[in-house]
Amino acid sequence: MAPAFAFFMKHGTASEIISPFPTMSVNVESSLLTGHYSDVHHVPGLVWFHDEEKRLINYGTNASELLQLGLATSLKDPLYNINHEHLNKKAATIFEELSKKGKNSASINGLLYRGSQEKVMQLPFLLSLLPTFHRSLAVKGPDLLTYGSFIKQNPFAKYGHFWQRFGFNNRFSAQELIYLIKNHSLPPFTMVYFPDMDQIIHKKGVEDLSGIVKTDRELQKVLDSFHSWEEALKNNVWIIMGDNGQAVVRPRNQNPLIHLEKLLSSYRITKLSKGVRKDDDIVLAVNQRMAFVYLLQPNHSLEEIANILKTDARIDVIAWREEEKIKVVSGRREGMLMFKKGGQWEDPYGSMWTLNGDIEVLDIFTEGSRIKYGEYPDALARLHAAALSHKGQFLMISAYPGFEFKYGSSPVHVGGASHGGLHQHDSLAAIIVSGTERLPKYNRMIDVKDWILSMLDS
Ligand SMILES: [Zn+2]
Repeated sequence: MAPAFAFFMKHGTASEIISPFPTMSVNVESSLLTGHYSDVHHVPGLVWFHDEEKRLINYGTNASELLQLGLATSLKDPLYNINHEHLNKKAATIFEELSKKGKNSASINGLLYRGSQEKVMQLPFLLSLLPTFHRSLAVKGPDLLTYGSFIKQNPFAKYGHFWQRFGFNNRFSAQELIYLIKNHSLPPFTMVYFPDMDQIIHKKGVEDLSGIVKTDRELQKVLDSFHSWEEALKNNVWIIMGDNGQAVVRPRNQNPLIHLEKLLSSYRITKLSKGVRKDDDIVLAVNQRMAFVYLLQPNHSLEEIANILKTDARIDVIAWREEEKIKVVSGRREGMLMFKKGGQWEDPYGSMWTLNGDIEVLDIFTEGSRIKYGEYPDALARLHAAALSHKGQFLMISAYPGFEFKYGSSPVHVGGASHGGLHQHDSLAAIIVSGTERLPKYNRMIDVKDWILSMLDS
């Protein structure tokens, strides 16, 4: 059913790779490009609360949420702010580093694309009517930048209309890549994002294969643009990877949705459409199977909110920061774990930690002075990074597989699948590497950038 995937697997290695937490595309792409978790790159998730601007940032869960947040301001977040304001300027992207070394690069349909070259996007007429936008938008990207039909390589590109999500679809991505291949203008490094698979799995669930078949069709076209498929492997290294896994969401009759406003009904929760009011207690930022819960008032504590949340067994890991310590409790496991950076316990990735309390809460095992992870891959480093990714007092909560958080108009995937969580179902993505024997130092997305740079150096 998938000859192109089969071809790449036959001539390569297939394994799994760990996604950052929360397991959401914008966080994943920021980690891929910078080689760091969100404590360094500062893009915490798809939805988060900006403490200084006192507003919810939403890079685009759905149109109705963007409308409630105010279209003009909220559209500027995914279109401009994420790359040029939120993504830490001190965390160099792979595009910026290659540019320093005098090497060209390309980004096709990546949401994160920051590079060193001045580029101009042409916005659709309707967007240019909004007060914050003009017809064109100056951005900084790699040498070759495709961002839907706003900026593209092929002047005759199809599939870029507004009903085709302005080109944010598999066919448009493949078409742009093929254009570079056929014009012999593939730079040393190209990153291409194929967005369709995610939505198919969300809707049809993790067992569905139609997304694989559909994506494979585009990969076949890419391979066909070389003289032969073998030729495609000769002078190129191919890295094909997902950006996160997905966990099952149970059908309607099995209580799949965790309604946060019901659980936290004793607090005054900020309404999306109203913005933060003076006496609001908490702000909710739902990232599908993960949520940030922000505390605005000093007369409550994060631990008090955690104690309410852990009475619901559908909520899995609940964590928050207290000075340099991270505290973790769970709706499914007894006890509390406290940990901090530095100490005598070494994780599988060479980082050292101090652990106090119940390590079972995070399904951690010890072996001599080493720790091993169970259901939550690279759990300590990923939680620690998320806790330091942005300002504010907040809890990070992750749902157990089968369940998803819901607040206001946040999208749900009942009977399908979803992600965002810390669990391995969300956290492990597939990776196929063809055309080289070399692999990243560890099977984590934050190790991909250095691996690619070292291959390009040699
Ligand atoms: Zn998704």
